[in-house]
Amino acid sequence: MNQTPSCSSTLCQTAWACYDQVDRAADGRGAPILSVPSVIADPLHMPRHQSSPRWPVTRAVHACALCLTLSGTSWAQAVATAPRPSSTAAPDGTAILASIQALTAPGMDGRATGTPGNAKARAWIVDRLRTIGAIPMAVVPVDAYPNGRGTFEVPFTFASKSGVPMQGVNVVATCGGRRSGLSPIVVSAHYDHLGIRDGQTYHGADDNASGVALLLNVAEQCVRTPFEHRLVLAFFDAEEQGLQGARAFLESGWARRGVALNLNFDMVSRSDKKEIYVAGPGRWPALEPLLKPLAARAEIAVKFGHDTGGGQDDWTQQSDHGPFHAAGIPFVYLGVEDHADYHKPTDTADKIDPRFLGGVAAFVLDVIATLDRATSFK
Ligand SMILES: [Zn+2]
Repeated sequence: MNQTPSCSSTLCQTAWACYDQVDRAADGRGAPILSVPSVIADPLHMPRHQSSPRWPVTRAVHACALCLTLSGTSWAQAVATAPRPSSTAAPDGTAILASIQALTAPGMDGRATGTPGNAKARAWIVDRLRTIGAIPMAVVPVDAYPNGRGTFEVPFTFASKSGVPMQGVNVVATCGGRRSGLSPIVVSAHYDHLGIRDGQTYHGADDNASGVALLLNVAEQCVRTPFEHRLVLAFFDAEEQGLQGARAFLESGWARRGVALNLNFDMVSRSDKKEIYVAGPGRWPALEPLLKPLAARAEIAVKFGHDTGGGQDDWTQQSDHGPFHAAGIPFVYLGVEDHADYHKPTDTADKIDPRFLGGVAAFVLDVIATLDRATSFK
């Protein structure tokens, strides 16, 4: 069965693609796109970002009838009326920190997938996207939004480690795309964390409210001054469950439709050495001449690495960029080295230095502006 969604609304008739959100079975290809190991481990003592490794997935991605809301051509025409300024305002680390504080406030309860706290965090992100003016990526179902507003929320299901079906919800928006014919850059950050365990709240300020806050800052900049590439702004759910949101996103059609690059933020706000790592060029050498020169002009220390060797220090598969890499899509990952509060209830917003955060945000904008001037990353 090949389920091509019907796109009957006026909004979707202008779509550059009718986004065939089908599962693998419906896709008729049978074999998994991504192979996943089946090791299960203590979620609180996993290396780096994940609360557990990738367990076998029997995914039934739903939320069908997704249609991209804007034509690449018409969108490019719409935003190409004004030239993009060569410079943007310096990011405000204190304002970005305020987003982290909001995502770790009482009631967010550690944002574990499937919990009320996770839903509250998601609603907060959606509200911010609406305020910023980012465009929803999907319309689900097509006829449910007569005003054409669409939805930012894209549900998916996955199997828990005990085999129980669980639901996650990605939040996906878009902006930019001044130049037609370029595949989009997916900029991502996971918004879920570990929730409440044994009565203790795992706030996840650095992991990964910080990445979400940075991604919202990118959204603001992109809406204000659109990039040549379309940016797909992906706030993934269930990363701590084994990169499930990123896997669902790719399996829903993006892996074969074409993504130029994934830029992923996960743990970007804490470093005693005031340094951030850039991973990706070790696996995708074409990125190195683009990104290496940026380190010298960054306000913070920028290091390259953690992307070769395959061992514990190789972060290639340790956050949501992993499934992109496995699908043959170049990635750039930004993150700090593990700290004493990693995956502990003490990962709180008061430990974040807004000056470092502002420096990272400025570096991120330099990275995106640089990548945006390139047309190929392989
Ligand atoms: Zn994380």
